[in-house]
Amino acid sequence: MNNKRIYREPSREIQIYGNYDVIVVGGGCAGIAAAIASSRNGAKTLIIERFAFFGGAATTSLMAKINGFRNQVEPDNLQTTKGIGEEIILRLKEIDGIGKNIYKKMKVYDGTKNSLSFSYVVDTEKLKYLLLKMVKEAGVNILFHTYFSDVIKEDNRVQGIIFENKSGRQAAFTKVVIDASGDGDVAFKAGADYVGKTNLENKKLQDTLMYKVSGHPREIDYFGCQYEDTMVIWGPKAGAIDAVKAEELTEGEINTRLAVYEHLEEQKKNCEDLRNAKIIETPALLGIKQTRFIEGLYTITGEDVLSGKKFEDSIAMSSKPIIEYYGYRRYLEHDGYDIPYRCLLPKNVDGIITAGRCISSDQPAFESWRSMAPCMSIGEAAGTAAALSAKAGIEPKNINIKLLQHKLIEQGAEIGQGR
Ligand SMILES: Cc1cc2nc3c(=O)[nH]c(=O)nc-3n(C[C@H](O)[C@H](O)[C@H](O)COP(=O)(O)OP(=O)(O)OC[C@H]3O[C@@H](n4cnc5c(N)ncnc54)[C@H](O)[C@@H]3O)c2cc1C
Repeated sequence: MNNKRIYREPSREIQIYGNYDVIVVGGGCAGIAAAIASSRNGAKTLIIERFAFFGGAATTSLMAKINGFRNQVEPDNLQTTKGIGEEIILRLKEIDGIGKNIYKKMKVYDGTKNSLSFSYVVDTEKLKYLLLKMVKEAGVNILFHTYFSDVIKEDNRVQGIIFENKSGRQAAFTKVVIDASGDGDVAFKAGADYVGKTNLENKKLQDTLMYKVSGHPREIDYFGCQYEDTMVIWGPKAGAIDAVKAEELTEGEINTRLAVYEHLEEQKKNCEDLRNAKIIETPALLGIKQTRFIEGLYTITGEDVLSGKKFEDSIAMSSKPIIEYYGYRRYLEHDGYDIPYRCLLPKNVDGIITAGRCISSDQPAFESWRSMAPCMSIGEAAGTAAALSAKAGIEPKNINIKLLQHKLIEQGAEIGQGR
């Protein structure tokens, strides 16, 4: 019997997989936009992802509704996510990957360039296919089934990453790493400060197991994400878990997965049209809404969101309401607010740009910009900034912000210039 609590792993030599300008960790909506933007801007880019497809919560957790392309209610004059996010919707449309409009009372835009609606239900399989195609077309190097495990750090700067896969433990060097892991795994391992250790004023959003059903009529009065004859439903909630703790995450998975059939039976009681519905898919991963927010050079706040704040270093916009913080869905009374570049830069570590749901934010602001459309804009900005930083050989925090903004606008992104 070994009663020790600590085991000292012997140090060892590991293979170097390669040298890159930019490495993106995580292929969710933020990570793919970052990798595409980085590679399109001429940086030699590697993306690693623990699953065998891209999309993050949209595909691994079946979160089949991409929100946040413009304000959900009037004033909704400005489409606040354009660029790569818009490209994804337009290309999904071309391959019949868009499902039924879920917000029946809302104004529907015609779905062409600069005229996207607030939200799009998507086919999660077509989304997997398209994102892979786009990342390949951009010339990004891809490593699937690969788990980020640590950073290579010298002084206060990240120089590379260590990851594990079927080939074993390997290292890769990079000029800039983009942390698009959702959980901020890279910045955390690099020693960056974060919030999210506590329950964030007990306002933390609850993780939910989504699941897909079929066997219901196509005309059905139920709030689910319908694509052809299938529908994704919001299933059991995981309770107060901290999804970056393996045991708590496991417990969340167990509890929600064991409750899923019962959940559908409950839905059937309230919706006659679901009586013949069958579960055809549960996702690879419980839907994790929030974990760590890495402390950045600026932390975006609920006040910034509600006041429609403009920033000199704006790199993206959002206009989505704050969903739960105030106890009701709080719509914005303006066309959108700016997201500053400084939110993507960890305060106390160099060589890293964060993208997606781990950027620096307080709880109410997060509930607005967390939707996938703004996360794609943030990702596109992170990738473009990383390429500029790598090319110029300067820290991400020292790049020419005007040049970054110019590039983003040139690429078709909305960073507030349309207001
Ligand atoms: C239940 C639920 C409902 C939601 N509802 C909506 C909605 O209706 N509309 C909407 O637009 N948004 C919604 N959201 C929010 C939205 O889905 C997320 O905020 C968004 O997907 C975050 O994107 P991301 O790329 O930052 O992170 P993620 O989507 O979490 O992607 C992170 C990626 O990194 C990979 N990864 C993580 N750790 C590692 C590692 N160590 N090594 C290698 N790879 C790693 C993951 O596999 C994943 O692919 C919802 C989220 C959930 C969970």
